[in-house]
Amino acid sequence: MKQFLIVRTCYLFFCGFTLISCSQKQKIDLLICNAKIYIVDEQFSTATAIAINKGRIVATGDTKSLQAKYTAANELNAKGQFIYPGFIDAHTHFYRYGLGLQTADLAGTNSWEEILQKSKSFASENKDGWLIGRGWDQNDWAIKEFPAKEKLDLLFPDRPVLLTRIDGHAAIANQTALNIAGLKPGYMLTGGLVETKNGMLTGMLLDNAVSIVGSKVPEPSSAQKKEALLDAQQNCFAVGLTTVDDCGLNYEEVLFIDSLQKAGQLKMRIYAMLSDATENYNFLFKRGKIKTDRLDVRSFKVYADGALGSRGAALLQPYTDKPAWSGFLLRTQAHYDSVASLISQHDFQMCTHAIGDSGNRTVLKIYGKYLKAKNDKRWRIEHAQVISQNDFKLFGKYNIVPSVQPAHATSDMYWAAARLGPDRVKGAYAYKQLLDQNEWMPLGTDFPVEDISPFKTFYAAVFRIDAKAYPDGGFQVENALTRREALKGMTLWAARSNFEENEKGSLEKGKMADFIIVNKDLLVVSANEILNTTVVATYIGGEKVWGK
Ligand SMILES: [Zn+2]
Repeated sequence: MKQFLIVRTCYLFFCGFTLISCSQKQKIDLLICNAKIYIVDEQFSTATAIAINKGRIVATGDTKSLQAKYTAANELNAKGQFIYPGFIDAHTHFYRYGLGLQTADLAGTNSWEEILQKSKSFASENKDGWLIGRGWDQNDWAIKEFPAKEKLDLLFPDRPVLLTRIDGHAAIANQTALNIAGLKPGYMLTGGLVETKNGMLTGMLLDNAVSIVGSKVPEPSSAQKKEALLDAQQNCFAVGLTTVDDCGLNYEEVLFIDSLQKAGQLKMRIYAMLSDATENYNFLFKRGKIKTDRLDVRSFKVYADGALGSRGAALLQPYTDKPAWSGFLLRTQAHYDSVASLISQHDFQMCTHAIGDSGNRTVLKIYGKYLKAKNDKRWRIEHAQVISQNDFKLFGKYNIVPSVQPAHATSDMYWAAARLGPDRVKGAYAYKQLLDQNEWMPLGTDFPVEDISPFKTFYAAVFRIDAKAYPDGGFQVENALTRREALKGMTLWAARSNFEENEKGSLEKGKMADFIIVNKDLLVVSANEILNTTVVATYIGGEKVWGK
């Protein structure tokens, strides 16, 4: 009897022990071990393991303790590689970039002749309809002047051609395209320019004039639209992007994106800003903010002015390299004021493109009128590129969010001082000075104006040099960001600019499991190694969406 009791006690003890260890080992979907993980929380802490279940982060910690705590359906040894939150690009034209992949790529061309050649070979492979090209930049040519259309007319006498400059704010069209759009010498419009020389059209179009011709280009088919979005997504996953802010879509485009996301085909998370158009305001004010797992629509994208490269940016004083020309606002002050009033009444977010110091001052003042004081509305100025020294403080005073693209600094530095002169250029691309205003700031690329790679953003923000390591010591390096600031700008702060900091932007417990595995430690490696960083895998909601 006594012996039996001992056996029974042992048996009970054994069962109890098993029960405890079973209940301690929690079943999860994915456990990644032996990594260096940058959580990008307030303390900027690191970990070596991350546990993921049902698309969310369950825990981060050291490998041994997480292995003891969890049994994973899938356990991955990261072998010392580096994990960051998935990159969020706070300013892109994702959909337009995708469509652009279907047109002639003129980026990096060095002369007008080269553009004509590329257009010709693209046309021989794509024989029907409009010939569309994108990405040229006269600042890269030996003669840095806008082209004229004569040779384009000779090459394409019957087919309409529209070739857009890298920033999208200028384009050259041939005569056939101009005829279709009904543009004649001396055509006048607000917020744009149809260039005329000696009483003849040159084919050059600025800002709203580009839209007049662009509106005549037939809409892409549903199949082309879908292909555009999926191609864009694929390229973006390969460089570690898990969320993109698409700055300026029509509501129909947003509904199309939503349908692809809901069908499980488009996995990219998108923060969509609707364009400044009556039908978009009517749609969203009636429908209310849209929020799904992958789509967030609560803001409007407005354009104050054009770009500095095409001298369409509105400056307070004339351009240093074009006396008596100060650029222009794209709409009247009254328009911006009425839009701000409407957006403010409905409690949505306003995001306005402003490049020149006059464009920025106009927006800062109108924002100030409706924001009144410190607030958490997160109204953004996209680019905030040239700021008068007197105006920086307005960002802090009204908590206006500067949404900046560091690669613009190192792309434009070759000619920015020529446009602005030595004093004004000091208030241009002044990212550190802007960051100091609110102590947080989202970063982006503005692709396809710049390359899609977030690593190039990080590199430009921190080192203020281009891929050729020019200039020595960096361009206006007093406005460089630290590595931590740059990383936060591409993750947590970008999420915050989208009101999504509680679900994204860091690898804290409970957040969406959007992260990337890369081969370099961005917080440590040298400048040129940053550009050689490769993404090993990209995860969205714990699902591997891209990997080598
Ligand atoms: Zn843009």
